[in-house]
Amino acid sequence: MMQSFNPATDAVLAEFADHDELAIESRLRTAAESQRAWARLEVGQRTPYLLKAAAVLRRRKDELARIITLEMGKPLAESVGEIEKCAWNLEYYAQQGPAFLADQVVASSAADSRIVYDPLGLVLAVMPWNYPFWQVVRAAAPVLVGGNGMVLKHASNVPQCALALEQVFQEAGVPDGLFTTLLVDSGTVPRLIRDDRIAAVTFTGSTPVGRSIASLAGQALKKQVLELGGSDPFIVLADADLEAAAAVAVKARFSNTGQSCISSKRFIVEQSVADRFAEAFVAGARKLVVGDPLQAGTTIGSMARRKLRDELHAQVVASIREGARVLIGGQALEGPGAFYQPTILDHVSPGMTAAREETFGPAAAILRVGSADEAVAVANDSPFGLGAALWTRDLDRARQLTRRIDAGAVFVNGMVASDPRLPFGGTKQSGYGRELGHLGLHEFMNIKTVWTGPAKT
Ligand code: NAP
Repeated sequence: MMQSFNPATDAVLAEFADHDELAIESRLRTAAESQRAWARLEVGQRTPYLLKAAAVLRRRKDELARIITLEMGKPLAESVGEIEKCAWNLEYYAQQGPAFLADQVVASSAADSRIVYDPLGLVLAVMPWNYPFWQVVRAAAPVLVGGNGMVLKHASNVPQCALALEQVFQEAGVPDGLFTTLLVDSGTVPRLIRDDRIAAVTFTGSTPVGRSIASLAGQALKKQVLELGGSDPFIVLADADLEAAAAVAVKARFSNTGQSCISSKRFIVEQSVADRFAEAFVAGARKLVVGDPLQAGTTIGSMARRKLRDELHAQVVASIREGARVLIGGQALEGPGAFYQPTILDHVSPGMTAAREETFGPAAAILRVGSADEAVAVANDSPFGLGAALWTRDLDRARQLTRRIDAGAVFVNGMVASDPRLPFGGTKQSGYGRELGHLGLHEFMNIKTVWTGPAKT
């Protein structure tokens, strides 16, 4: 039984029976048949369905956003933004798909040689709850435009989102089962990866689970993209615009109630400006409004589960024991829900818990460094390598430093964010493969060489 549970009120919203083996089998069979027919369409025949799905999302955005907020606790305005971003992503791939999938002629000894892009089949998506629509649609739009199908195993705490996603694609008129939700627990994932009808796997979630999915997919020799955890650095050099950096720092750490893989988590600041930055950062965090995520004006909602809140608090407590100083917050809120005060820790050093581990909630760590070189060394002193932000007015120096930072993306004087036009993904323990942009589309295509000699009679 899968429970839809409101983490802000502790109320059970609904319960859903898991799909049993019979239902799984029937859904996979339908999905595979639909995908074969879908693959035979020209890309230009597929793109209208993506546009229709985008239109459904835009039309139903308030209702869908409410489901997100009810199931995982983020402020409603952020949920609305998430739905709008999903629509944008579908529109982007509808517009760009034909160009990204066009044959590429390559000069060789052949009369004609070219690269063509063929679909692989059904892609299994194992997805997390933190952006329950965006994570799925980020992967689904390129998968579908490329002629593949998607089978979704969503996180078990967002079953209503999982079912609503399937409904959105049905309403857009895609062939029956081309986008299929399976309500199953994580124990079913190995069976799905081994299934011959599953051609590839896309996983977004934690690093330990990613490791397990990678080994299962490796055993089955199936292509995989892994989007895993992060502990993104936010480097502030002495010449940075401190006011702007601090204002963006608040957004970068606390939006989505701090539960984002690309939230900035380690604020690495040159010592000479650290007091001023910390003061502005704290002043910004004080303006955050913690409360009912359905209420207009709330900027910090409930965390998604009590267990996650308790884990975050344990990391904060451990860091304080190790020598960190609390500038603001540091406590869970009493009462129902999984609320946590926006927290900023100062004087964190690289060995401390808040610097070593991923902190998945509203808690920031400030690490003070003596130079830009030390900032880069501290930034790279992490098993993760997802995103990084770098703040400086010297853009020539920034260009040099960006090349030395171990990350899938570096944003200079801005906040790390995903954008349909730009590839997204990590390095080191943050995973491999890319989503978004043309690279995200090509991940799940058979990149086929077609070599043709002269036609002699
Ligand atoms: P998670 O525990 O790894 O779960 C993610 C998905 O994997 C869920 O669908 C979950 O299903 C499933 N799962 C859990 N254990 C499994 C197992 N042993 N075998 C197969 N599947 C399994 O992650 P989470 O706590 O939901 O999400 C937070 C993590 O995701 C953070 O580390 C965050 O950084 C990362 N994340 C990364 C990105 C990125 O793009 N790089 C984006 C968002 C989040 P159940 O719910 O049924 O357990």
